[in-house]
Amino acid sequence: MPAQRKLFVTTALPYANGKFHIGHIMEYIQADIWVRFQRMQGNQVHFVCADDAHGAPIMIAAEKAGKTPQQFVAEIAAGRKPYLEGFHIGFDNWHSTDAPENHQLAQQIYRDLKANGLISSKVVEQFFDPEKNMFLPDRFIKGECPNCHAKDQFGDNCEVCSKVYSPTDLINPYSALSGATPVLKSSEHFFFKLSDPRCLAFLQQWTRSEGRLQSEVLNKISEWLAPDESGKTVLGDWDISRDAPYFGIEIPDAPGKYFYVWLDAPVGYLASLKNYLDRIGVDYESYVAAFNEVEQYHFIGKDIITFHTLFWPAMLHFSGRKVPTKIFVHGFLTVNNGEKMSKSRGTGLDPLKYLSLGMNPEWLRYYLAAKLSGRNEDIDFNPDDFIARVNSDLIGKYVNIASRTAGFISKRFGGKLGKEDPGAEAMLDAAVAAANEVKALYEAREFAKAIRTIMALADQANLYVDQKAPWLIAKDSSRDAELHMVCTTAIGLFKNLTVMLAPILPSVAREVGKWLAADVHEWDNCYVKLAEGHEINPYKHLMQRVEEKQIDALFEPAGEVPPPLPSPKGGGSEYPGGEEIAPVISIDDFTKIDLRIAKIVNCEAVEGSTKLLRLTLDVGEGKTRNVFSGIASAYKPEDLVGKLTVMVANLAPRKMKFGVSEGMVLAASDRDEKSAPGIYVLNPWPGAQPGMRVR
Ligand SMILES: [Zn+2]
Repeated sequence: MPAQRKLFVTTALPYANGKFHIGHIMEYIQADIWVRFQRMQGNQVHFVCADDAHGAPIMIAAEKAGKTPQQFVAEIAAGRKPYLEGFHIGFDNWHSTDAPENHQLAQQIYRDLKANGLISSKVVEQFFDPEKNMFLPDRFIKGECPNCHAKDQFGDNCEVCSKVYSPTDLINPYSALSGATPVLKSSEHFFFKLSDPRCLAFLQQWTRSEGRLQSEVLNKISEWLAPDESGKTVLGDWDISRDAPYFGIEIPDAPGKYFYVWLDAPVGYLASLKNYLDRIGVDYESYVAAFNEVEQYHFIGKDIITFHTLFWPAMLHFSGRKVPTKIFVHGFLTVNNGEKMSKSRGTGLDPLKYLSLGMNPEWLRYYLAAKLSGRNEDIDFNPDDFIARVNSDLIGKYVNIASRTAGFISKRFGGKLGKEDPGAEAMLDAAVAAANEVKALYEAREFAKAIRTIMALADQANLYVDQKAPWLIAKDSSRDAELHMVCTTAIGLFKNLTVMLAPILPSVAREVGKWLAADVHEWDNCYVKLAEGHEINPYKHLMQRVEEKQIDALFEPAGEVPPPLPSPKGGGSEYPGGEEIAPVISIDDFTKIDLRIAKIVNCEAVEGSTKLLRLTLDVGEGKTRNVFSGIASAYKPEDLVGKLTVMVANLAPRKMKFGVSEGMVLAASDRDEKSAPGIYVLNPWPGAQPGMRVR
């Protein structure tokens, strides 16, 4: 066996201002499969991640939520576990960039860069919010586009005409935080001198060294490193400082100055590693000092290539630290129509909803693996393809081998395996060849190709079982030896397939290991046969099929689920209307709800429902909307036709049993129907017109 390798593996640090979306989960699954494969080879792997906790957006979001940034990110961190455990993602450590290790490491790296002459400073003029008393990030300055004159455009580019400009070009700029007119103010900023010839020389060498970057990634960044006629590159110095107030790490010897979040975020990889090594009693300094022994790999998405292939290696190299061995870049996950899973919207395939519907996490792991290659390319989640791959391949091919043969071993042979079929030699040799091939494919992160090879072997095994037809042999008791041999051969192959699938299906592999009383978590067991007379346990079914209705439920738009009524306390409630006033919200939160005057142009009973009325509403859009409302106990349809009311006009459409509801009508009621019965639909004062906004 070759010497054990030492690997340090990370995934990109998620920004701690929201829940995970499916893009995060895809990256973690990709890295987790690779890590499990490496461990099956006997390699030592430290696999860590952390929340990216700093920066203006988190500071501002925390303030809006009435929390300290620390509280805010702690609450986000507390919500990570169900996703990671739910999808069998086995990080050794989950840390935070706001942890003490990161403060200390980021400051030390900065000091080392400064000592190496790679930090400069210069005075920069920037927009400042005189009410909030802070410099405004570009995204928090709004105004009129200087090009097309669209109102309310961000400080960096116009969403209407796509023009890119600087915030000072905006006409009538205002602060998105306070509404105040920003003023220009000067401040000293610190820069990492990426334009230094030493940096350029290092990066040209580092990025081009063998196997460091995927070729498509190297092509993309080469333009950043190519010198123009004057010998300069487009790679300018990198502004790494921000002024207080800022949620981040203080810059040493520079009061009121903080590291820009992207300076300390990747340092979080090392901080998480250090925190983990401290916990398991390994000395961090000596671990990272072993430059040539430890291989360092970062799994990232294609949106953060420049940070990881230019800034991060240069920071490490010029602060005298180990540089990454390889950067593994993946594309985005799209759903069906190619719609990108956006970080801000996070719509589409909701990972927690997937789990809450009782869908098997290993279906998704298998499906994603079947799509993933070692290249930086987008992959698409297609619901029909998902059903086909899970039901036809994973269950129809792989699980099927076990379920068709296991029972005979238990019932007819006391759970003991027999001899392998000498006539199946070619197939058994093919299994050994496949194991070698699949091993190389896993190493290269070519998971889709690995699965194709594994499934081709499963096809051979199924063909063998079909041809031998053990269910027919079993009818003739004189052919017991043959039955024993056929089932033993199939189960032996199934064990090999399980070893090869174990990085993707950790839970199934564990169950198979228990069933076969065999180790399926060491790769070399692909080459070891189960001995004649080896006793296995009774077979339990390994996996259910995915049902189409589960997929339908997964992609059904989120509807407003009414909260359950509290149990009556008796004697009425201490709260007005039977419930406590909801927590305070900002005016921004309120304006997200678009309330409109609606004319009820038609209203009818809903067949099959005693609660609902079907309303046809006109909100002045030139078309009508269909809305279901649970007011049938209070109104007859004819009471409502022709009346005006108020509706929520921007509520996500909700698919109901009787059709799609395109909004919600506002009505008042007491929480406890017994203490104050009745439902009262809102009706505006005379003069209001359909389509008017209620604010
Ligand atoms: Zn414009």
